[in-house]
Amino acid sequence: MNEKNKALTISELGEFGLIDLLTKDFSITDKKLLKGIGDDAAVFETGDICNLVTTDLLVEGIHFNLIYTPLKHLGYKSVAVNLSDLYAMNAVPKYITVSLAVSSKFSVNAIEQLYEGIRIACERFDVELIGGDTTSSLSGLFINITAIGQAKKDEIVYRSGAKKNDLVCVSGDLGAAYMGLQLLEREKEVFLSDTAIQPELTGYEYIIERQLKPEPRRDIIKRLKEAGLQPTSMIDISDGLSSEILHLCKNSNLGCKIYEDNIPVHPQTLAAAEMFRLEPSIASLNGGEDYELLFTVPLDKKDVVEKIADVSIIGYMHEDKNIKLFVPRNGAELELTAQGWNAMKR
Ligand code: ADP
Ligand code: MG
Repeated sequence: MNEKNKALTISELGEFGLIDLLTKDFSITDKKLLKGIGDDAAVFETGDICNLVTTDLLVEGIHFNLIYTPLKHLGYKSVAVNLSDLYAMNAVPKYITVSLAVSSKFSVNAIEQLYEGIRIACERFDVELIGGDTTSSLSGLFINITAIGQAKKDEIVYRSGAKKNDLVCVSGDLGAAYMGLQLLEREKEVFLSDTAIQPELTGYEYIIERQLKPEPRRDIIKRLKEAGLQPTSMIDISDGLSSEILHLCKNSNLGCKIYEDNIPVHPQTLAAAEMFRLEPSIASLNGGEDYELLFTVPLDKKDVVEKIADVSIIGYMHEDKNIKLFVPRNGAELELTAQGWNAMKR
């Protein structure tokens, strides 16, 4: 252990700092391992095909609150977030394992509902449940899912492949899951103060669903393939746009310029932001859990990408890695900083 780290707390270091610190002394010798730590999934070669592996741990009270999260939705979401990482590599998900730690407060029926959601996601995205582990927990529910996917070597898209002047594109709309969470949290407080009051969520169904039941963007991967357009780099938006674009910049050794005017935001997200007196760009830039795809394409593919439904061009990759700018609708350009979701810094 490094002497200077003795007094450092985990929250000071942050999630990514901690991962870097813990893994820096592991060297990779296997020639078949094309990517280890540092992308949405690890990649290793087996014959003509590559296998990809990704894993996510969801913890009660940190990643989900069972007061407003139906277990069936939670099961679906647990699978969805893993598949999203595989789509972000341009891979096809094939198998999952599910490991659970369950406290005695849960009934058999509750865990069956969780599995109902897992099953629906497996059927919808054509993946097979191939194993897992089940154990008890002293407090709450822990769900760890590992997903395994496949892709041809030359079809895999990494975070590191962006080139200067590439267009930065995003699927769907951003900030909805974050505003959905704000609404659910507010209604939880109201409900806890008076259980006779029913939550008032009418008119906000879209953003609530985006929080509780995100959809991994297999459809976008399919459309890109049909258009013959392979992104140069890609990542899924789990921690917020600003955090993810900075990953693409760092891994591709480039900068970027992103325009607020071009960032797609749903009307319900705007309405909720107004209700909470929040600048909508806070939600679209830093709100996590949208599970949309953020990717880059060469500038000369502008015509092709513009025709793909539900994809927006939000900026471009700058050749200077020190220039990472956000251009607001009104006002001066701002330096992009990662203020997204960070489980270790809460
Ligand atoms: P994502 O947001 O796409 O799920 P993460 O930010 O969780 O990815 O992880 C970034 C990278 O660090 C991934 O390659 C992941 O496998 C790796 N990683 C995360 N936690 C650990 C850990 N405790 N030990 C080793 N590698 C880790
Ligand atoms: Mg990811």
